[in-house]
Amino acid sequence: MTLLHLENVAAHYDQFQALRDISLSVAAGETLAVVGSNGAGKSTLMKVICGALPASAGRVRLNGQDIAGQPAHRLTAQGIAMVPEGRRLFRSLTVEDNLRIGAYAGRKGPWTLERIYQLFPELVKRRDNRGLDLSGGEQQMVAIGRALMSNPQMLLMDEISLGLAPIVVNQIYRALPDIAAEGMGLLIVEQDINRSLSVAARFCCLMEGRVNLTGPCADTDRKALMDAYFGVS
Ligand code: ATP
Repeated sequence: MTLLHLENVAAHYDQFQALRDISLSVAAGETLAVVGSNGAGKSTLMKVICGALPASAGRVRLNGQDIAGQPAHRLTAQGIAMVPEGRRLFRSLTVEDNLRIGAYAGRKGPWTLERIYQLFPELVKRRDNRGLDLSGGEQQMVAIGRALMSNPQMLLMDEISLGLAPIVVNQIYRALPDIAAEGMGLLIVEQDINRSLSVAARFCCLMEGRVNLTGPCADTDRKALMDAYFGVS
């Protein structure tokens, strides 16, 4: 069942067109990896989906309902959540309060504090620590937990491995299939293509604001993907 569907979406920063004619979809329980070089439009695509930047053309549908142009807080209530690049925790609040804030304006569903602690047991002993006392990996777990607390249907993750040690990234990536198992759609953006392709069912490669190549991650023709990534025609 299609959860998120974008049809011919465009986006601008003033006169500059950052996205053109983007069409893609994510099914319930599916993970889509969005890849592309610097400036390809990955972050802009996420901003459009989560309501931080209005699409200048096209349609964005969640469960068949047009959500384009709605403010971010209303999209949270409808089931779109984002783990932003840089985590953006409330550094003076405790882990538990940061998590609780995620439930505010969200939906009811399977994700509770207990479930988040099951997903990331490392956070249990840190529940009363403040955001600024945490390691980068713990902060990222809290940022993911906070997004899950709104019980989204569609979760967007921007560069969740940035600046983290590989062992911590492994820990976090191990949790992603458990999240998708609830029927949630995931859209992930990573610099590390191998990492994102390893958990996703399909990829979408952007180049200069357009979809240059899309397909299943299993048995991907790596040369074709690299050509699409670097714009070799
Ligand atoms: P990166 O991997 O470097 O984060 P990206 O694929 O996420 O890149 P975007 O950040 O979406 O790319 O940027 C797409 C294009 O839009 C780039 O040319 C960028 O310079 C431009 N751009 C991004 N943000 C703004 C902004 N606030 N104002 C004007 N132009 C912007």
